[in-house]
Amino acid sequence: TLLVTGASGQLGRGVINHLLDTFEVPAARIIATTRTPGNLADLAARGVTVREADFDDHASLAKAFAGADRALIISTNELAIQGKRREQQLAAVAAASKAGIGHLLYTSLPNTEPGSAVLFAPDHFDTEQAIKASGIPYTIFRNGWYDENLFMAMPQILASGQWYTSAADGAISYGARDDLAAAIAARLASDITESTTYTLTGPKAYTSAEVAALVTEVTGKPIQVVQLSDEALTEGMKASGLPEPIARLLVSFDAATRAGDLGMVTDSVETLSGRKSVPLKQFLEANRAALA
Ligand code: NDP
Repeated sequence: TLLVTGASGQLGRGVINHLLDTFEVPAARIIATTRTPGNLADLAARGVTVREADFDDHASLAKAFAGADRALIISTNELAIQGKRREQQLAAVAAASKAGIGHLLYTSLPNTEPGSAVLFAPDHFDTEQAIKASGIPYTIFRNGWYDENLFMAMPQILASGQWYTSAADGAISYGARDDLAAAIAARLASDITESTTYTLTGPKAYTSAEVAALVTEVTGKPIQVVQLSDEALTEGMKASGLPEPIARLLVSFDAATRAGDLGMVTDSVETLSGRKSVPLKQFLEANRAALA
């Protein structure tokens, strides 16, 4: 039996769709856990076992994980509270261990070792370490930045015509979330037990200037990339109304990009999923409406 946590999230849904439709795993072999089982009524109707699991409710987890052979723990999304995800994810790893899971899969972050500028990197690193210490055979997916992250900042950038960044000429190997979901589903559906860490990325890395040029090609709207220091960017974000912890988090992404930590390109997505990844330009063309 294959278990997926966070099944109502966008990645979780994607993984389960690929299990069912791409890799033709029978619904009866899938357990979907979520904080909101009501949101998965459609999967339950297809025959997927839906269970409630909240990583904040440690006692609930033993029941939620019971009987699964392979389990994917999707990292949680309390991004701005450092340490929160560590606590949640370590509880999930401990529960997986108690439940006797045979293979544990986890969604992490590229180059998450100490020294990463990304403020929440320690939460991922500590979770990776806990998985390794558990003795359960594992697959760690160090997921690169989703193409979809561009939907957050781009509307404002296009409205103002200016992209403030401290990433300098650092590049990001953007990948489409659904391509990553397909790769993760493939490994989950396999019977491979060997422990491996994959960095999952898109096919090419792009600097801010290169992304801006692509977005301009696709939307027809000009973007001026303005390079700032981390400090100036943080102050600018605060002045425009962002709470300081969020500003610091976003700037930490630019600092990591500048350091090259988000730019590694691998072919693991295509190798695992057995299908071609969507190039960034094609993704932007298909999602023009979400950019502006
Ligand atoms: P979503 O915001 O769509 O989903 C959030 C996920 O977190 C859901 O799967 C949700 O599960 C889960 N979650 C939150 N709190 C808890 C909790 N207390 N217990 C158990 N699960 C919890 O994010 P995506 O699906 O797009 O991305 C999946 C994960 O990848 C994110 O949670 C985040 O860790 C990371 N991420 C990576 C990005 C990248 O660019 N690589 C960008 C953004 C996020 P449910 O609601 O079903 O209980």
